Amino acid sequence: MEQLFRKSVREMVPYHAPYIIEGIKLDANENTYPVLEALRAHMSEWAQTMPINYYPDTDSTKLREAIGKLYDVEADWVLCGVGSDQVIDCLMRSTLEVGECIVVPTPSFSMYKLSANVNHGEVIEVPLNEDFSYNVETLEEAILAHKPKLTFICNPNNPTGSKMALEAIKRLAKLEIGFLVIDEAYMEFTEESGIQLLKDYPQVIVLRTFSKAYGLAGSRVGYALAAPEVIQMIGKVKPPYNLNCFSEEIATWVANHHGHIMPLIKSIVESREDFKSYLESLGCTVYPSATNFLWVDSKWPLDDYLREASIYVKRFQYNGKRYYRISIGTKEQMEQVKRDLKSKV
Ligand code: PMP
Repeated sequence: MEQLFRKSVREMVPYHAPYIIEGIKLDANENTYPVLEALRAHMSEWAQTMPINYYPDTDSTKLREAIGKLYDVEADWVLCGVGSDQVIDCLMRSTLEVGECIVVPTPSFSMYKLSANVNHGEVIEVPLNEDFSYNVETLEEAILAHKPKLTFICNPNNPTGSKMALEAIKRLAKLEIGFLVIDEAYMEFTEESGIQLLKDYPQVIVLRTFSKAYGLAGSRVGYALAAPEVIQMIGKVKPPYNLNCFSEEIATWVANHHGHIMPLIKSIVESREDFKSYLESLGCTVYPSATNFLWVDSKWPLDDYLREASIYVKRFQYNGKRYYRISIGTKEQMEQVKRDLKSKV
């Protein structure tokens, strides 16, 4: 039976993430503040007339218009997916011929590699500098040497938190070799978005998500911003009716009321810097972060210590070394994490 499956699928390690509903979940860079009361109220009201007996709008028009307003572009600059994961897959499916390659920094978001492999693509990995900062020279060399269809710049980067300056991104965009995909899943926690490059560089595609700062990971909504002719081509491989009517409604409300989340973002950034200092005081090496998580080098098995208190963080293995990625939760949660670590290290 196994032989009936594609080689790339047989060799794949299945994706798995623990589903945690109790304790403090700091392993997936979610926004752990409670769902906004105004959003709950809106959805309760919407539920009274919800149109679930009909297919949703396959073009997610209402949501694309709301997103367009956020960035001052028309809706035809926007394509929505079931998470930006689905947009990444659509990008691969619409561009890669068998054996063509993509360039990705490493370590970075695992989905680029996984999705390329499933879509018959080769992956050229370009390591970050030793301090996990971006190296624009080595990326430029790789692009010139391999002529990738897609280059992914996760900015700021998951899992390291590092950021590439807009000038460096511009330098890569100017090469005009394949598409330059800037994954801005965490851009709300910093500034210098590549969105301002879209009008001058039609080979730039920006990815965004409602899963992180906007606190809607459970509704699975992400999107691409790009020139309308690019959006139209990617849209050809988008599954019809991909966003369900709940997700479209929730994300549209949040996009139209984005001011509500700004205080939460500010609070997360403050907690991040406070927690960084705390970890440093324990002797950990903590890398600069432009996101809602920290990349930590620690001699202690932080994940084991914290799990005993039902606090969950993510462990990584990179270049034979162990690292931790710790998402930043609410102020109260981070105080609890500090108390717990103090009792153990
Ligand atoms: N890009 C990056 C950099 C991410 O970290 C994630 C989620 N971990 C995603 C994209 C996917 O987000 P979603 O599919 O929830 O929109």
